[in-house]
Amino acid sequence: MRQVIKQLTEIVGKNKVLTAPEELFCYGYDATFRNFTPDVVVKPRDRNQVAAIVKLANEKGIPLYPRGAGTGLSGGSLPVRGGIVIVLTDMNRILEIDRENLLAVVQPGVVTAHLHQAAEKEGLFYPPDPASSDACTIGGNIAECAGGPRGFKYGVTRDYVMGLEIVSPTGEILHAGGKTVKNVSGYDLTRLLVGSEGTLGIITEATLRLIPRPRAVRTLMAVYDDLLKAGESVVKISTSGVIPATLEIMDRLTIQCVTRYSGCNLPQDAEAILIIEVDGMESAVAQEADIVARVCREAGAREVVAAQTPDEREMIWRARKAISAALVQIKPTKISEDATVPRSKVPEIIIKLQGIRDKYGINLVIFGHAGDGNLHPNIIADENDPEEMQRVEAAIEEIFQAAVSLGGTLSGEHGIGILKAPFMHLEFGPHELDFMRRIKDALDPKGILNPGKIFQERKV
Ligand SMILES: Cc1cc2nc3c(=O)[nH]c(=O)nc-3n(C[C@H](O)[C@H](O)[C@H](O)COP(=O)(O)OP(=O)(O)OC[C@H]3O[C@@H](n4cnc5c(N)ncnc54)[C@H](O)[C@@H]3O)c2cc1C
Repeated sequence: MRQVIKQLTEIVGKNKVLTAPEELFCYGYDATFRNFTPDVVVKPRDRNQVAAIVKLANEKGIPLYPRGAGTGLSGGSLPVRGGIVIVLTDMNRILEIDRENLLAVVQPGVVTAHLHQAAEKEGLFYPPDPASSDACTIGGNIAECAGGPRGFKYGVTRDYVMGLEIVSPTGEILHAGGKTVKNVSGYDLTRLLVGSEGTLGIITEATLRLIPRPRAVRTLMAVYDDLLKAGESVVKISTSGVIPATLEIMDRLTIQCVTRYSGCNLPQDAEAILIIEVDGMESAVAQEADIVARVCREAGAREVVAAQTPDEREMIWRARKAISAALVQIKPTKISEDATVPRSKVPEIIIKLQGIRDKYGINLVIFGHAGDGNLHPNIIADENDPEEMQRVEAAIEEIFQAAVSLGGTLSGEHGIGILKAPFMHLEFGPHELDFMRRIKDALDPKGILNPGKIFQERKV
């Protein structure tokens, strides 16, 4: 490893190679709070440095783990087998905002919120908006195909990636897609790479689709005395002829934790709230908000309140974004799932989740992107309590089984990483798994790029 560190230093310079124990410790974590220690951390500044690092890792047979901001919730960036963590956050320039072609060209380390701000300055809009947008990077978003609250109307990261520059697992710089709206030449490598969790290439540049910024927005909060009725409202709203930009759900415990933690003024006696936002032209949003409010009342909401000022809207979203930090005030270990079902099955998955919570006697809270069928059942526990953790493990497996039995998926947006790899067989048969593995093996014959992710760990 000493020789490798010397060669890495030659590639990126001394101050971009980190070897101090405390630095290795920090880069061994992500938001799952699992920890593995890498041998070295390296921070390239351009594509050629990335390519040289990948070639070196191949030559030496050393595992290499791409990393953005480390906000991942499935362990995607963790150095599970030691080796080199390659951090892309120094490649953080927005290279171009092209108003005529409605696109942006960015480096992978751009923080998502910075792209939002840059697009908005030009009257444009980059819709993917994970709740971590103030910290996470575009590279991490593309690698995970991140979603967020705006998925209902606007889709997910995949729908905005037009082209990519990557360094392949064997160190070649190559391009997929581009700046045209239409492109059917050859295999769609862009789609293959989006959501590949850093296992098929390291993203060094991305061309992203922008859209005109919506002129007006209305934010509603529908308050329920029954969580199931909130779930049923989701289905009714989606058949009402209105497609809201966001449709988020929070259950009672989530509301209470967030209120205590953030001081935001949410109805603490409610069993659930829906946060619904409609956007578009002024005349249309007023009408759409009225329709959504009526549907919610008819479906059992005890009241529907509309944010009257930008401050009130900001308070509602501040509350939504505070959930993760608020929940760990109950107990220190937070297991965040994102099993996803077809939208029409939201009421059924809520019933199943409540059953799992009661069966295992665990702190299971429900919140998330209900409009996408993408709930975030979060289990709050204490990893120092082995008996509780046993119940938690059993509950997690049942959550996955429940989602798949309803025609859903293990992960709507957080990725498989290491945490869900042992459960892939619940969703896929041997042929599908073999097909995926053969793609990985063909592109990364030495298995050096982000090993142990998506597929269960095996030897290099
Ligand atoms: C409080 C909180 C809220 C969240 N809310 C949401 C949400 O609403 N929606 C959502 O989808 N996710 C959410 N997440 C999860 C997380 O923020 C996303 O998965 C995000 O896309 C990760 O970006 P990152 O830069 O932190 O990537 P990292 O965590 O560093 O890495 C994630 C994956 O991407 C790979 N990767 C990173 N950069 C590159 C690159 N340049 N090339 C190739 N592979 C790369 C890594 O190897 C890893 O597999 C949330 C997380 C937290 C902590």
